[in-house]
Amino acid sequence: MPTTEYVFNTSELDVLLKQPLGAKLPVVDRAEGVYIYDTDGRDYLDGSGGAMTVSIGHGVRPVLDAMHHQAERVCFTYRSHFTSAAAESLAATLTELAPAGVTHAFFVNSGSEATELALRTAQQYWRDRGQPGKTHVLGRDISYHGMTMGALSMSGHTARRADYGNLLHTFAVAPPPYPYRFPLSGTDADGHGAMVWDRIIREYGADKVAAIIVEPVVGAAGGALTPPIGYLRTLREICDRHDVLLIADEVITGMGRTGKWFACEHDGVSPDMIATGKGMTSGYTPMGAVLFHQRIIAAFAATGKTVPFGHTFSANPLSAATCLAVVNYMRDRNVLENVAARGKQLEAGLRRLAQRYPWMADIRGRGLLWGFEFVTDPHSRGLPEAALNANALFTAHCFRAGLIVYTAGIAPLNNATLLAPPLVITEVEMDDLLARLEAGMISFASEMGFTA
Ligand code: PMP
Repeated sequence: MPTTEYVFNTSELDVLLKQPLGAKLPVVDRAEGVYIYDTDGRDYLDGSGGAMTVSIGHGVRPVLDAMHHQAERVCFTYRSHFTSAAAESLAATLTELAPAGVTHAFFVNSGSEATELALRTAQQYWRDRGQPGKTHVLGRDISYHGMTMGALSMSGHTARRADYGNLLHTFAVAPPPYPYRFPLSGTDADGHGAMVWDRIIREYGADKVAAIIVEPVVGAAGGALTPPIGYLRTLREICDRHDVLLIADEVITGMGRTGKWFACEHDGVSPDMIATGKGMTSGYTPMGAVLFHQRIIAAFAATGKTVPFGHTFSANPLSAATCLAVVNYMRDRNVLENVAARGKQLEAGLRRLAQRYPWMADIRGRGLLWGFEFVTDPHSRGLPEAALNANALFTAHCFRAGLIVYTAGIAPLNNATLLAPPLVITEVEMDDLLARLEAGMISFASEMGFTA
């Protein structure tokens, strides 16, 4: 057995093991497809792809072969010395998949680096155009854009912001797309909640606003908060009217998670920048990216400046080749069609469970990104006491039942559970996921004292 003690543990596992920080995590042995196996021989269905990352499953042979092939040629060269065939080909591939007008890519190593880069690019864009006062990037409450200080400044995540005081800006201002708990603004004639942005930009002063950043479907902070189609289109129009850039944070929703390569395609919207990460390499290596609309690139070209950013590992050939192999695998196997079919199966299964277990509320999502939350009573929508940590407890019960789900939401505002299985999950495996979810639900309900 390994001797390494984990110093930082997850709250979910603490609950499961009824032990304080320092409890030992199971030791992973291997993983194949949608299943992970530990060294005690237990299997786990990866129902959230870790943290919404494992897009094509574990141990996929063509990806391992592509990684091996690239590793034998060259793993690392520094981005200001060389480009690589893999990085060039990946940039061409991703911009071809992205919405119209998105023409360039810059590669980073995580979602946080991607949103941070989008923030700085937006500021520089306006500085170069003689409007240096446009520096704020407005976001929404109940949102998450990453851990670095700029990314966290844009995030409406009270829990994750709590310890950083005046190091953070307070950029998050709009209500979340969350009608279950936040009624739509009175200004919203279209019924999707985006009109509120017009008032917010006016009140804030468009001369201060560089960009607006939104997750097309709110992931970890909200638990798959899914605005109706039309929200992003209206937001795009409002941004254009006020000369404000639009950044889509597709770190979770990008790369096929919602059934299109990028979720803003559901609205037919081309953002100025798309930040992505997670599913790009399905977790085989770290990678993130910002995809830029031609108009941003043209503005940089006009001043002769380059993107104001970079990291040691940016565009490293190994991650680029890995992402390329993931995309090719998805294209060859029509994975997006599977997302649509399995998404329907998952939604139907969740709705069936919610009928059986009425404390399961507000089933919401798109593609293979679904969430729900726990209530004490479906009519009052009351939340279980925050101290009970209901969703973390549920995660623990699912873990015991051999299913990995993701604890989302921000206590005490809500408690949410996210499901985001690999996009290649089969019908039989989805049935297995739903059976394990129900097993977790039954033991969770008994511990919570919930009775149907
Ligand atoms: N944006 C969103 C929408 C995310 O969900 C996350 C991670 N959960 C990030 C950004 C940050 O990504 P990373 O953890 O790779 O830095």
